[in-house]
Amino acid sequence: MPELPEVETTVLDLRKKVLKRTFVDIWTDFKKMIKRPKSFQKFRKELIGKKVENVRRRAKNILIDISNDKTLLLHQKISGHTLVGRWELKKKQWVSKLPGPLLDDSKNRFLHLIFFLDNGKQLAISDPRKFAKAELWDRDELEKEFKNLGPEPLEDSFTFEEFKKSLKKRKKGKIKQVLMDQRIIAGIGNIYSDEILWDTRISPFKDINSLNDQELKNIYTSIKKILKKGIQLKGDSISDYRKIDGTKGGFQLWGKAYGREGKKCQRCRTIIKREKIGGRSAHFCPKCQS
Ligand SMILES: [Zn+2]
Repeated sequence: MPELPEVETTVLDLRKKVLKRTFVDIWTDFKKMIKRPKSFQKFRKELIGKKVENVRRRAKNILIDISNDKTLLLHQKISGHTLVGRWELKKKQWVSKLPGPLLDDSKNRFLHLIFFLDNGKQLAISDPRKFAKAELWDRDELEKEFKNLGPEPLEDSFTFEEFKKSLKKRKKGKIKQVLMDQRIIAGIGNIYSDEILWDTRISPFKDINSLNDQELKNIYTSIKKILKKGIQLKGDSISDYRKIDGTKGGFQLWGKAYGREGKKCQRCRTIIKREKIGGRSAHFCPKCQS
């Protein structure tokens, strides 16, 4: 699932491509993706003719502010990613008019929702598993919805004290699961929680109550460091995620833990393990993360 660095990369790139553009039409072959309003025709009608005023991120949500104080929310969920290009319908299949990864990389060929822009380009969601969602909100109502989300870890207001305060919302829990809890911190998922814990040499199975102040401080510092690295490398494309031009991000070449089971730990040469934790998998070094 795209996490904070992937969504941030998408948002920064989208800003360059869709700001000030107007929606001229919308197409889908999977109306269930539109959750609000429930009717696709209503959704389509409300968006046509509206101009993009801003593109921003909150947690893992892409937020496209449009005229009339409305916001289009896109959540890419498990396997979705956002693309901008030019496609044409050929035998019921959208095919990129331009050569390159939008045409060649199979991950970019699952277009189920397309927004047509007034410059002839299209903003599309490619999603093989079709869990991604689109919602149209009154902006102030949406802000209320976000009240239960944890703080944004890269904002200056996210201090060590804030981090500790936020952790208190949960009395116990394994540190990996707590890091992925969107009520505690916004934007961290499976990939970056594994990397943060490898970086700090802390076992993903440790209960938050057993961590001392220095360990919490290390985790706090590492959250900022690893997420910034993720943005700098433009996200992790080990799985479905691609940048909006269809090319891959670079974090998967830098990562030390996620998806590296069976490989040697880059610090101590012990074999990286993968183990179930809740419904997810933790990737960690059993020797240096104790
Ligand atoms: Zn190790």
